Amino acid sequence: MPSYTATTNACKLCKPLGASLAFRGIENCVPFLHGSQGCATYMRRYIISHFNEPIDIASSALGEKQAIYGGGPNLKLGLQNVTAKYAPKVIGVATTCLTETIGDNVPMILAEYQKEFGTTNTPLVVHVSTPSYAGTHMEGFNAAVREIIDQLATDSEPNGTINLLSGFISTADIRYLKDVCIDFGINATILPDYSDSLDGQALNDYPLIPEGGTPLAAIKTMGGAKATVEFGSTLPAKTGGKVLEKKFGTKLHQTGLPIGIRATDALFNRLAKLSGKNIPMRHTAARGRLIDSMVDGHKYIFGKRAVVYGEEDLVVGITSFLAEIGIHTVLCASGGKSGKFESSIAAALEDMDCELPVVKEDVDFFDIETMAKELKVDLVIGHSKGYTFARKENLPLIRVGFPIHDRVGGQRILHLGYHGAQALFDLITNTVIEKKQNDSPVGYSYM
Ligand code: SF4
Repeated sequence: MPSYTATTNACKLCKPLGASLAFRGIENCVPFLHGSQGCATYMRRYIISHFNEPIDIASSALGEKQAIYGGGPNLKLGLQNVTAKYAPKVIGVATTCLTETIGDNVPMILAEYQKEFGTTNTPLVVHVSTPSYAGTHMEGFNAAVREIIDQLATDSEPNGTINLLSGFISTADIRYLKDVCIDFGINATILPDYSDSLDGQALNDYPLIPEGGTPLAAIKTMGGAKATVEFGSTLPAKTGGKVLEKKFGTKLHQTGLPIGIRATDALFNRLAKLSGKNIPMRHTAARGRLIDSMVDGHKYIFGKRAVVYGEEDLVVGITSFLAEIGIHTVLCASGGKSGKFESSIAAALEDMDCELPVVKEDVDFFDIETMAKELKVDLVIGHSKGYTFARKENLPLIRVGFPIHDRVGGQRILHLGYHGAQALFDLITNTVIEKKQNDSPVGYSYM
């Protein structure tokens, strides 16, 4: 046995990258990395090539000297510079591998900063601990959402709103959830909301902080909401929803990502109860059309075998949907290690007439490729990082999730709800048909 482990093409991303995305979803907020310059450069590049939008991530730009003597002075100077340049309402500070390793006490430095430089106009500073060697971008994202709520929400009067903690979903997914809430007549606080700030319009002038994001005023009053709906079946023990429940008694409903019919039914039934309204006609009609299309397309995809990889919650949702349309997921894989992946897959497939897949957490693409070779696979579903493996095995890759670097519109892929399931169904079915045509010696003709 080798006395070491190495990662080959990781199936996860850097933890503060996830935190930066969550901070980007707050109105008038600048994400700020406490660490070396290279971390911010890497993350900006990575996020830009998925969203095709500019994103500024500030940095305390530590060098060798600060690695030895501590990064406190750099953090304080960086916060002053960001305040002067951007005039934000909030600065979201995430730590990096370097500052976690040298043991910078960020809460203490920020308390000192407040004493030394705080005025009535000083931006609020939210901080989150995100050592990347101990977690994934999803853990960073969830931790940032939790800290935003913990550090900004205050006790407030009941206001009849619903908090929607929707997790790391696409900008199209966020816009879809907003429409669903409007259709139900629900006044929702969706956190985080990067649907505009990371998928904005063409403008003549470049704004230092893009429009959009969850309003700070709405975050402050989340404790007065009627309830919180939080997406995810592999979430950590302490989440934003749990914080709201513990601090303010806000009723919490946790549910998996609404991907496919069963999970979407669960969400819509929940929203119907919370709003006291029937499911709007436009959505029942979409459900009906989806089922009709499944009947039409079943013959093309029934019995196909798939590998699904990526963020654990996304894989759980996609696997459940594939079982609904007759595709057998043979391998579920993720670089995350929540410890809840396997049980969540089993729960999502409960009562479905299908075999349980092999479920592997904490794996890389070397592992995924090795396992997939043994499993006779027809298609691969996941983000762009699996391209090399899919190409090598001559398998069609259906792109979902993040990051999608080798196609345009990755941020506009709709995964959620009946509309998302419809789009995924058409994409998957047509990909299978295309592969069959491409592999056929005669191709295709129609009389
Ligand atoms: S050093 Fe750590 S925090 Fe910085 S980019 Fe690399 S993994 Fe992320």
